[in-house]
Amino acid sequence: MAAIDALQSRQPRTPSLAWEIGALSGFGAVALGFQALPLNAKVKMGLLAMVTIFSTLSDQLTDLEEHDDHYAYIIRRCPVCMGRHSDAPLCEMAGAMLDEGLRWLTQIRYSVIETRCHAAGDDECRFVIAKTPLK
Ligand SMILES: [Zn+2]
Repeated sequence: MAAIDALQSRQPRTPSLAWEIGALSGFGAVALGFQALPLNAKVKMGLLAMVTIFSTLSDQLTDLEEHDDHYAYIIRRCPVCMGRHSDAPLCEMAGAMLDEGLRWLTQIRYSVIETRCHAAGDDECRFVIAKTPLK
């Protein structure tokens, strides 16, 4: 299984739960030859893969918006903060999965910031992902 070999070869010495889930979210990408895509296409396809996987295999309803300088990964029904209340966004687990999933796909880090959150009174959890990688 080339895809499993690829996953194992990219696994950090001490994989975090977020890394493992992020890697699994990008699993289908390996089968589609993701690694040969240009970086921008790889990021977009990776995010779309995560949207599709979470929206079809879990109760999490998710959308992706593309803007000039960023993507907005929007969780319309969030299992992380459902029923919780906070003064600020608190879905670090979802953000970590996006961060680690993109890192697994690209070997590059991107800024992932939750700007809106159900728990803070917003109608969605929104993660802004800059198109320009972190330095
Ligand atoms: Zn949230």
